[in-house]
Amino acid sequence: MKLCLKPIQTRSREERVIVRCCYKEEGHIGSCEEFPYLSHLNVVAPRVANKIKRDATKTTGAAWKSEDAGPNRIDRWAMLLNEEELLKKYKVNLSVLKPSVQAKLREKAATYEDCMNVAAKLTFLVYQMKDAPTPPDLIHSYLENHFGLMSFGSTKCIICKDYLSFALFDEAKRGRAHIETAHANPRIHNPENVGFAHRECNIAQGNRTLDEFYEWMYKILQRVEWKL
Ligand SMILES: [Zn+2]
Ligand SMILES: [Zn+2]
Repeated sequence: MKLCLKPIQTRSREERVIVRCCYKEEGHIGSCEEFPYLSHLNVVAPRVANKIKRDATKTTGAAWKSEDAGPNRIDRWAMLLNEEELLKKYKVNLSVLKPSVQAKLREKAATYEDCMNVAAKLTFLVYQMKDAPTPPDLIHSYLENHFGLMSFGSTKCIICKDYLSFALFDEAKRGRAHIETAHANPRIHNPENVGFAHRECNIAQGNRTLDEFYEWMYKILQRVEWKL
C-alpha cells in the first residue's frame, strides 16, 4: 500500500526536528492526516487513542521531571540526536542527567517512521482484543493492508500469551492502565517487536528480553522444584 506522506504542518517546536507526514493512502480525498486509522477510536475510546499515540511516539517512564530524573516524555526520535542538537532543538540538557538515566532514555530512541508504524500496529492489535469496538470498513481494510488479516478476539499478552480484553483499558487504577505497551526486546521499538501486555507481566519482564525473561523464570521453577 502506498502512502500519501505529504508533510503536515504543526506549530509545535518539534517540527524543527522532523517533518510529520500524512499516513493516509496515496491519492486520498479530504485533508491529510497523520493518524488516519485513529479517527474512530478518537471518538469511541479517546483515552485508548491517546495512549496509542503517546506510547508509539514518546519515551516512556514515570512522571518524572526533575533535573536528575530527566525530561518527562520526549519524542523517541529526539533520542537519536546528539547532546548539542538536543539542547538546541528541544532545550533538553542530557549531560546534567545521571549516566544511567541518559542510557535509559537513549534506549528508547526510534525513527519517526518506526514510531508511526508502531502506532498503526498497536491500533491493529487493539481492534483484535476481546470486547473491542468494531472498526469501520475503511480503517479495517487500511490496517489489513498494512499487517495482514485481522481475527477479532485474537490479541494476546506478548509475555504470558493469555488473551487481552479491551475492557482492561477502562479498569485503570490510580491512572495506571491494566494493559501496557510492551516490547519483546525492550531496546527495539518497531512494529515487529511491540505489542500489549498485562501491567503485571510487563513489570515482571522488566528490562529483559522475552527470551531472557523466560529463562530466568525457568531457572526459578527448577530451583524451587516446581511440579506441574
Ligand atoms: Zn495526505
Ligand atoms: Zn500477561
